[in-house]
Amino acid sequence: MEIIRTISWMKQAARNARRQERVVGLVPTMGALHEGHLSLIREAKKKCSPVIVSIFVNPKQFGPNEDFSKYPRTFEADRKALEELGVDYVFVPPPEEMYPAGFRTSVMVEGLSDRLEGRSRPGHFRGVTTVVLKLFEIVQPNLAFFGRKDAQQARILRQMAADLDLDAQLVVCPIVREPDGLAFSSRNVYLKGEERRSATALYRSLEALRREITAGERDVARLIEAMRSVIQSQQGVTLDYAEIVDADAFEPAATLWKPSYALLAARVGATRLIDNALIEPEGESIRVTV
Ligand code: AMP
Repeated sequence: MEIIRTISWMKQAARNARRQERVVGLVPTMGALHEGHLSLIREAKKKCSPVIVSIFVNPKQFGPNEDFSKYPRTFEADRKALEELGVDYVFVPPPEEMYPAGFRTSVMVEGLSDRLEGRSRPGHFRGVTTVVLKLFEIVQPNLAFFGRKDAQQARILRQMAADLDLDAQLVVCPIVREPDGLAFSSRNVYLKGEERRSATALYRSLEALRREITAGERDVARLIEAMRSVIQSQQGVTLDYAEIVDADAFEPAATLWKPSYALLAARVGATRLIDNALIEPEGESIRVTV
């Protein structure tokens, strides 16, 4: 496994692989790797060689009052895990390599980026699309792997890839959860004591939604209410939003008879967490994947 810190070296290695007509896979991450990240890498290993994992805590996707400086950085443990999985290249550019003095360009997917997560975190998606476009330009992957955990992000990146005629094909992988249902997140390390237990309210809320739908509830407003009430009745958890949106437009869904997402964001103490469930019609019934 090779650790690469410069853009020119990363471009060279990826170019060599492409010349040999190999399927280049990219897994972008911010490090502090957990089972969610590792599942994307395992999927990449099945389909690609070489597999390139980037680790870059992207300053542009953090707001001024967010956790950029205290975001967990665990490079030694990450390196070990990646080595064990048989990753070929780890791309770890320093911030000044990605954003040298005088850097001025950003890319922004209009509309999709300003609601839900974009509304709660202004500028977040502009930072994400800018860094992912840069990574795509540097690596020019055939396949790029993302988690459904960040469903809105995946939708926005798919739009960017289509609009800008990027060759990279996006693969969106399922959400990986702890045994008690909490979705793996690098931010879970912030949860202290009782907060860790309270944080399962997000998963319990999605499970309540699934139960309601399985029992035949089809009214979107009542389903949202069912999700909200689980979060609001959990002490120590503050709901940011609970919505059901059309999977394509990310606008409020009017019906469950089109693919949609139930999306949640909540604060547990000082830690902001997100989660979601995929809702898909399947013949006469509705499938909910948490
Ligand atoms: P991050 O390091 O948080 O930027 O995440 C890197 C990638 O891992 C993104 O595509 C995330 O959607 C994905 N990811 C994060 N958490 C999970 C999870 N629990 N299950 C599946 N994928 C995840």
